[in-house]
Amino acid sequence: MKNRKNDSVLVIAGKDKGKKGKVRFAYPKDERLLVEGINFIKRHTRAVRQLRQAGIIEREAPIHVSDVMLLCNKCNHPTRIGFRYLQDGRKVRICRSCGEVID
Ligand SMILES: [Zn+2]
Repeated sequence: MKNRKNDSVLVIAGKDKGKKGKVRFAYPKDERLLVEGINFIKRHTRAVRQLRQAGIIEREAPIHVSDVMLLCNKCNHPTRIGFRYLQDGRKVRICRSCGEVID
């Protein structure tokens, strides 16, 4: 998966379209990302003995990677991600708009 934890992303689809946030957690298997402040859902919880209070809590839910674009930390544009191999053989991500190495 192209997106990782701590990436800055721009949401391009869904109810939070246009918002920016930081990836808090990546779920490569599901191709989903948990993004700070994005895709809040209400969850109804029941009290589990004394451990948890009953009520409605709002929390972020993971969104699909195709609903976001990476914000390049070099040129600040929402961009597609490319890959390149460095001379030492490491595979790095590059920004398709400015060509800079992202990580
Ligand atoms: Zn860039």
